[in-house]
Amino acid sequence: MKKLMNYIGGELIAPQSGNYFDNYNPAFGEVYSQIPDSDSADVELAVKAAEKAFPAWSVTPASERSKILVKIADLIDDNLEQLALAESIDNGKPLKLAKIVDIPRASHNFRFYATGILHNHTAAHAMEDTAINYTLRHPIGIAGCISPWNLPLYLFTWKIAPALASGNCVVAKPSEITPMTAFLLSELCIKAGLPAGVLNIIHGTGPKVGSAITSHKDIPVISFTGGTKTGEEISRVAAPMFKKLSLELGGKNPNIIFADCDFADAVKTSVHSAFSNQGEICLCGSRMFVERSIYDSFVRAFVESVKGLKVGDPLEPDTRVGAIVSKQHYEKILSYISLAKEEGGRVLCGGSKIQLDGKLSGGWYIEPTIIEGLSYNCRTNQEEIFGPVVTIMPFDSEEEVLGYANSTRYGLASIIWTQNLKRAHRVASKLHSGIVWINCWLLRDLRTPFGGMKQSGVGREGGFEALDFFTEEKNICVKL
Ligand code: NDP
Repeated sequence: MKKLMNYIGGELIAPQSGNYFDNYNPAFGEVYSQIPDSDSADVELAVKAAEKAFPAWSVTPASERSKILVKIADLIDDNLEQLALAESIDNGKPLKLAKIVDIPRASHNFRFYATGILHNHTAAHAMEDTAINYTLRHPIGIAGCISPWNLPLYLFTWKIAPALASGNCVVAKPSEITPMTAFLLSELCIKAGLPAGVLNIIHGTGPKVGSAITSHKDIPVISFTGGTKTGEEISRVAAPMFKKLSLELGGKNPNIIFADCDFADAVKTSVHSAFSNQGEICLCGSRMFVERSIYDSFVRAFVESVKGLKVGDPLEPDTRVGAIVSKQHYEKILSYISLAKEEGGRVLCGGSKIQLDGKLSGGWYIEPTIIEGLSYNCRTNQEEIFGPVVTIMPFDSEEEVLGYANSTRYGLASIIWTQNLKRAHRVASKLHSGIVWINCWLLRDLRTPFGGMKQSGVGREGGFEALDFFTEEKNICVKL
């Protein structure tokens, strides 16, 4: 059985303890590879390797850093098929989605920051003929990057690429649940000629590896994407050490459909925003609010489309909903469906686990589920489920729906469907969320800053802000 290895000091090496644990293929519910059960000793080695690499990498001209990072992007493109297959097997997501979204985006992340660093600039402020002020930015040192399982390579590279482009060295941990593409990335980095120790990838669990990274005294900057509870724990550790921190956390995003929407587009896109990647995207619209005058017709059309989604083998080209990433997460989602029923919800579609045939019989599959009849403030509508489960309810006015939409502790993303331009902007400005999509979903311009409000996170990733995040800023004032 394949054993993954850590990537430390430019080499693929076994964990210091020699211990491994199982990696499951969620489509079959079977173990298919072994993950290093690394710990603080491996993180220590990685920090030492990064410290050794930092003096040279931090002064390597941006044009040289750029060339190497572009080469990594090219290698991701060249290996798209293999990476997409690995991601689909590791995560349970449809292969098609991995091919058209996850892996291309991982390559874009490298290419965007590799070229962005060539055009970065800093500000200067002249005080007429008294003085001139200018800003210098330096890489900070060693960045700790920790990412979740839902968009494994996409989110992993979204952190690593700007950290490396800015001249930092990195100690990174992918989710233990989906480590395969990060392992393959380490092989590509070696091929691309990334100098030893510049990027170090340590596999293992959050409590052992994640916490060794966040609490390490020589890692002054942490970029984390994951659940709000883990974010809270990381803040508790990092804040007293005065670390620079970016936290991209959970969401419970509203999808608001006004009566004057483009009906067909709203139905079609809402199916994607609800159930893409089995609903395991932090940006999925899991709470749907539909204006009362079209509620019945919208629900009819939406339910009919959702019933047409094929749940099945992630590797089959017509599969739209694959396997749930882990048994533990599968059980969590099913428990929320039971909770919704206890809270008075009516299941309009789905609502059960699915037992598929043959080799898929051990896999973890759940029907795309739509639930109505719940109050906006019940637990089902307030807590993140992160699976193929959406709630739907009618509303009568803008004020009412804004109250519902803004009622959770989260503030990551929102979706609005209306043809009324003024209303679109008015409602968007009143929604408490870091990003608002109007008549679309998941369109991303990598130049725009990304992040959440409230308990969905702190700080912004994306754009030039991410390059700035991984630097120390110094303002210099020269008297003329
Ligand atoms: P977790 O918070 O459980 O894990 C995220 C990462 O943190 C994993 O690598 C995990 O390790 C690690 N980790 C766990 N405990 C610690 C710790 N004490 N110290 C340091 N690291 C730790 O999230 P999930 O992987 O379950 O991902 C799903 C969550 O991510 C959802 O809440 C989702 O909304 C959110 N998310 C947010 C996004 C955003 O942009 N805002 C984007 C995508 C997802 P391991 O699991 O390997 O043990």
